[in-house]
Formats: sequence, C-alpha cells, structure tokens
Amino acid sequence: MRVLRLVFYGFGLFVFLGLVYYIIGLIQYRLNVMDVEEYEPVSTLVVPENPITRAKYPFVDVHNHQWVMPIQDLDNLVDEMEELNMAVMVNLSGFRGKVLEWSLDNVNEKQTNRFKLFVNINFELVDDEGWPEIVLDQIQTGYDQGARGLKIYKEFGLDDLDNDGNRLKVNDSRFDPVWEKCAQLGIPILIHTGDPSSFWELKDKYNERWLELKQKPGRYRSPDKYPPFEEIMAEQHDLFYKHPNTTFINAHLGWYGNDLGKLGALLDTLPNVYTEIGAVLAELGRQPRTARQWMIDYQDRVLFGKDTYKKEEYYIYFRVLETADEYFDYYRKRHAHWKMYGLDLPDSVLQKLYYKNALKVIPDLDERLFE
Ligand SMILES: [Zn+2]
Repeated sequence: MRVLRLVFYGFGLFVFLGLVYYIIGLIQYRLNVMDVEEYEPVSTLVVPENPITRAKYPFVDVHNHQWVMPIQDLDNLVDEMEELNMAVMVNLSGFRGKVLEWSLDNVNEKQTNRFKLFVNINFELVDDEGWPEIVLDQIQTGYDQGARGLKIYKEFGLDDLDNDGNRLKVNDSRFDPVWEKCAQLGIPILIHTGDPSSFWELKDKYNERWLELKQKPGRYRSPDKYPPFEEIMAEQHDLFYKHPNTTFINAHLGWYGNDLGKLGALLDTLPNVYTEIGAVLAELGRQPRTARQWMIDYQDRVLFGKDTYKKEEYYIYFRVLETADEYFDYYRKRHAHWKMYGLDLPDSVLQKLYYKNALKVIPDLDERLFE
C-alpha cells in the first residue's frame, strides 16, 4: 500500500511540475520574453553582398593547429588549402621529439613545401635538474628536425607553475636562454599570452563576453586565482623589450584588437614584434574605418592567422579584409554579438598581410608558391 501511495504522490508531483513549467512558458510567451541565445534576427538590409571563398592572393596561415599530423591525410587538407588559396599552413602544435619527427616525415612524404611546424617546450621544468640545457636541446633538436619556430601557449603566464607552486611570470629571467636561443637560430616565437580582458571582468550584463563566459565558464579569470589582465600583459611587453634580437609574433593582436591605438603604440617601440589576427577578426570587423587605417599604418607588422581550422570560417576573414560589404554575420556568436563590416584593404596591404610579411618572419618558406 505504501508503495502505491508513493507512486501516486510522485505522479501527482510530476503532473504539477509539468503544469508549472507549461504556465511559465505561457507567461513568457505572453510577455515576449526569450533567451538571449535564442534571439537571431534576420537582417532586412539590402546592400551589395560579395561573399568570398578564395583569398585574392596566396596566403600563409601563421596560426593553425593540426593535432594529429603524424597520421593525418595531408592530401585532403592540401586540397582544401588549394580551394582557399592557402599556400602554407603553419602548424603551431608540432610538439617535439618523436611526434615532431613523425609529423615532419608525413609532411615530407608529399607536401614538403605546404607546411611549417613550430616546436613546443615545457616551461614547468624550470626547477628541475638540467635546466635550461634540456629545453635548449629540445629547441635545437626541433630545429635540426625541420621545425622553424617556437610556439608559446597561454598556460605560460597563467597556469604554469614552478616546483613551489608559484605562477611562472612571462618575463621571468630564468627563461632568457630560451628567447636567446631562438634569436641565435633565427626562428620566430609565436606567443599567446593572456586572454580577452573581458574574461577578467564581472560576469554581468555589461560584459561583452558574457555569452562566452556562460558557455565556457572555465575561461573566467577569477581575481582569487589570477593576477589582473594588465599585469600579465605588462610582463609580456617587458619580455619583448628585454630581447630585442628575438622576433616575436604576438598572437591574437596581443588582445588589444579592441584598442588599436594602444597596440600601435606598443609596436612603435618594439621593432622585433609582429602580430597576427587569429580569432580576433571580429575586433577589426566592428571598427572598419579605424581598423582599415590601422592596418595601413602597420602593414609591415601584421600577419594572417586563423587559429581553429574550419574551411568555411576563412570566407568571413576574406570578406572582412577584402570587401567593403556592410553588416554581415560573423561565425561565432560568443566572440561577437555584433555584425561585420569590410575593411576594403588596398591590394599592396593585402599582399603583405597574406604572405609578404610571413616571408620576412618565417624562415625557409618556398617563395615560388607566391609568384
Ligand atoms: Zn592558437
């Protein structure tokens, strides 16, 4: 009997909750309430549209990640690159040792001149015996194997710790031999430091990246755990100042795509630093006049990068850079809930962005691919 009564009450509760849910939905509908993620107005604007699926010039993507390169079918990938007019892809995730060797074997089998790999090292070895020889050896070996750059992930400066549990600072002088080694080999360092400043701000309705912090809560940089955004960026800039003979590519517009004046001032004082536009296209596309002028002013310092590989997403890059189109969609809502506008960059600037600057910075690119 008791069991029957429990089932009866349980069923009653279920019906009641269902009813409540239904009524809430009805009220929301009556009040015209909806989820911010649900709202997707279709633009009624009628203006010229010039979608682009192939870059105007062959380009080098200096910020790409291919995670299974040792076993990847590179012919397929190169077919897609051909369609995009991507002459060379830089795989920043080349790792080191055997994985790097196998990746390069795969590349050299058929697609020798279409890929460049960057080596990766482990900063958390800093207190171990054998530092810094062990990482310098990893870099040298990587170079001998064929890698042509070093990639620094954002964990360095955010989450990497020394043996005492202290955060490794980006300008910690214990890493000086690493930067000097790259200068000596003549290879660039692509460095990603920090995150968008919004990740340090309150997760409230005023935060530009609120949606991203909701969808990816792990990206929030709580003040309990992390130093302020400005502190980490200042460490990075100090690193650039201290190593004028080392070439750095500051990833993601150095997270100052929303303040190009500041980024420009930084580049003015740091001739050894370049930057790239991977994953920050939406910053440029929301300020077409300012960004166009800035890209012209700094045409010798900016490289093309994309980060996540997805063929169709390159189309939006081409459209923002090459056309004068207005008010079109970006591809990832959590990066930008706003629309894109084309910068209509001059051909000479496009050529530098797409490949000429890369030819200066990344060693041993096959120039014939850009003729
Ligand atoms: Zn990346």
